[in-house]
Amino acid sequence: MALTNFEGAVAVITGGASGIGFATAKALRSKGAHVVLADINSQGLQQAEEQLRQQQPATTRAGGILTMVTDVTNEEQVEELMRQTSTNFGRIDLVVTSAGIGAGGPIDSFSVSQMQTLMNINFMGTYICTHAALPYMRQQGAGHFVFLSSVAGKLGVPFLSGYCASKWAVRGFASALRAEWYNSGLGITTVYPDWVDTPMVQKEGEVAQIMGVQVLLTPDQVASEILQAVADGRPDLTLAPTQATSLGLQLYKEDPDKAEQLMGASFYERIARLSSNQD
Ligand code: NAD
Repeated sequence: MALTNFEGAVAVITGGASGIGFATAKALRSKGAHVVLADINSQGLQQAEEQLRQQQPATTRAGGILTMVTDVTNEEQVEELMRQTSTNFGRIDLVVTSAGIGAGGPIDSFSVSQMQTLMNINFMGTYICTHAALPYMRQQGAGHFVFLSSVAGKLGVPFLSGYCASKWAVRGFASALRAEWYNSGLGITTVYPDWVDTPMVQKEGEVAQIMGVQVLLTPDQVASEILQAVADGRPDLTLAPTQATSLGLQLYKEDPDKAEQLMGASFYERIARLSSNQD
């Protein structure tokens, strides 16, 4: 059952202190939703709450705001997050899992602990939040999740093997759950954005240059698309504004072997171009 009216709806947003998570919280609150922001960054959460309180909702009934310092890889903290949400607002209609990190580099030097951290936050964090919110949604007979994957959850990108693995895992998890939750009143929108202008990408510096990162999406655009996709009950929200990415996605669907070869060839052409420019 699609969540078509956000007024009075109760939404938990992980990674809510920054980027796409914060923009989604703003968009939801402007439509009258109660928002619960969860993040590992306590200072960021405080600032996010102040900004939300200054924002004038477009509806007459302003929704409540709750912030909770939460590490999405910590089961007890996430269970407490869902418990507090239910205690304060009586239900949980929407969970947006936007907490995530990026990390890149050649696999030769990508350490076991880097890989475990990526999988823990990006995939296990999504699973833990889903598992903890599910009992409340089962009791309501309704609820919706928004999982942040990435176009890297549909493409194999050199130097992003760990990040891709974590985002493909989110995609596979969502796909299996949609089948498992057939006719249950529960739904998932998986979001696959291309590069978005957020601190996560701004931090990448040199790796972003090697990857040829072209940032075209803003967090507010992504948030507005997310609300529309949830209201439409869409399982897949892919945001690929560049022709290169949309062609890559199309080719991956039609001929994944060929797509991988082209992805590799264009990556090494770019590296050769970059190093000849530096000579
Ligand atoms: P961001 O860095 O602006 O926000 C991520 C937030 O997650 C931060 O506030 C951070 O403190 C929080 N976080 C990190 N680890 C956490 C943990 N263990 N527990 C709780 N919170 C934690 O990044 P963003 O760009 O807004 O990314 C949001 C999501 O969107 C991520 O899952 C990311 O992989 C995905 N995504 C981003 C882009 C992009 O280009 N920015 C593209 C596609 C997908």
